[in-house]
Formats: sequence, structure tokens, C-alpha cells
Amino acid sequence: MSGLMGRVALVTGGSRGIGAAIARRLALEGADVALTYVSAAEKAHAVVRDIQALGRRAFAIAADGASPEATQRAVEVTVAELGRLDILVNNAGIFPYGPLESVTLEELERTLAVHVKASFIASQAAARHLGQGGRIINIGTCLVDRVPHSGVTLYSMSKAALTGLTKGLARDLGPRGITANIVHPGPIDTDMNPADGPGADPQRALLALGHYGEGEDIASAVAWLSGEGGRFVTGASIAVDGGYTA
Ligand code: NDP
Repeated sequence: MSGLMGRVALVTGGSRGIGAAIARRLALEGADVALTYVSAAEKAHAVVRDIQALGRRAFAIAADGASPEATQRAVEVTVAELGRLDILVNNAGIFPYGPLESVTLEELERTLAVHVKASFIASQAAARHLGQGGRIINIGTCLVDRVPHSGVTLYSMSKAALTGLTKGLARDLGPRGITANIVHPGPIDTDMNPADGPGADPQRALLALGHYGEGEDIASAVAWLSGEGGRFVTGASIAVDGGYTA
């Protein structure tokens, strides 16, 4: 696998879970990779070491997505360290969950900052550096197209905004040969949503395939979009959700 040789990717939230799988997979395909994290420095550096062991360049950036300055700086540091930017993956995320009436203003603002503002700011900053063949890939959720239970209004709302971002970016950047797409994962076994967690069985019951996915399932879709196969795909919402929304 070497379809991404010579390309440079920035993956936000690449220290664990889906983001770590994406970072590793893009490196396996040949890309050099920068990844951000907010608190799990050791895990981020372990991913970096794995990528370097593949012979690719990699480094980790501590950048809280809730900070516009840190988000913008992550893009600039990537270009400064790795010389260019070809692929931006807006993956960093949190999962606010609970009764509507208990959502605080602080939670509302942080969720919108990490999911919506950071993705916009990173995309805007990346657009200054992306060239022909550039890629922006947002990570949404199956809870955008279907909300089958209560407690996720804020999460679903914040991720739904990424569909508008994706389509707008596709139009703004299409003339420059840059694509923008959104991948909607279904339940994926990570710290955020463990397959043996208390909420797992009800989610499994909604899946056509009857089982959780793995980070690698999302990474495969992102790798495909990042490569030649994705060159005529833009503004698209791609469900990788085990049939959650079927
Ligand atoms: P995890 O909780 O396992 O990992 C989250 C990642 O995002 C970590 O790398 C974390 O960094 C980083 N992150 C969290 N907050 C911030 C922040 N403020 N600034 C920068 N980075 C941050 O989650 P998943 O891997 O499961 O989720 C990844 C994405 O996929 C999220 O956007 C999520 O909403 C989405 N998703 C996940 C699904 C699932 O079932 N798992 C289903 C649908 C969508 P650190 O390690 O430093 O904390």
C-alpha cells in the first residue's frame, strides 16, 4: 500500500480510538502524519512511534479543539514541520449525553467549539495550504440521520452542522480540485463507546449487521477518500455504520 506516498495528513484527535486508527492507516498507505490530542500525551506519542516505525514522519501536537488559536496553530505547525498539507481529518470529538434539561451552557459551548468551530477553523486554515487533490474529511455520526433514543440532542445537533460545513467546503474548494466529505460512523468500539459498555446492547439491536465496528472500518473509508479512488467524490455523506440508519 503506497497510494498516499509523499502526502501529508493532519488528524485531529489522533491519540485514541477512531482517530488513532485513521492516523495509522494513512501512514500505512504512505502518508506522513501529524495528529492532535488534548490530554492523552502518552497515547499520542505511542501512535507517533508506531507511524515512525513504518518509516513515515509523524508528530503529535497538544491542541484543545475548544481553542481556535490552538486549532489554527496545529495546521500551521503541521505545514512548518512536514512541509505541506494534503489531507485534513476533523475527527476530535466528545460525547455529551444526558437529559435535555441538564445540559449546561458550558457543555453546549464546549461541544459546539470542539465539533463545529474547530472543524470550520481547521478547514479554513488548511484551505490556505491544500493544493490540487487536497482532501478534507469530517467525522460525523450515524446520529445525524437517525436519532432513535433520547439524551443526544446536543451531540446530534453539533454533528449535523458538519454536513453543512462539508457541502459548503465542497463548493468553495471544488474549483481548486479539493474535495470535502463526511463519514458517519455507527457504533465503533472505542473509549467513547465501548462494545461492552452499559449502552452497547441497545445500540447493537439497531444495527443491521448486529455488531459494533472497529476504528479500522472508519479508517478504510477515510483512506479510500484520501486516495485516487476519492477524486470524484465531494460533498458526500458516507455512512459506515453497520446499517444503523438502514
Ligand atoms: P475517543 O473518545 O475514543 O477519542 C477521542 C479523541 O478525540 C481522542 O484522541 C481525544 O484526545 C480527542 N479529543 C477529545 N476532545 C478533544 C479536544 N477538545 N481537542 C482535541 N482533541 C480532542 O472517541 P472515538 O474515537 O470513539 O471518536 C472519534 C470521533 O468519531 C468523534 O468525533 C466521535 O464523535 C465520532 N464518532 C464515534 C462513534 C463511536 O461509536 N465511537 C460513533 C460515531 C461518531 P485525548 O486522547 O487527548 O483525550
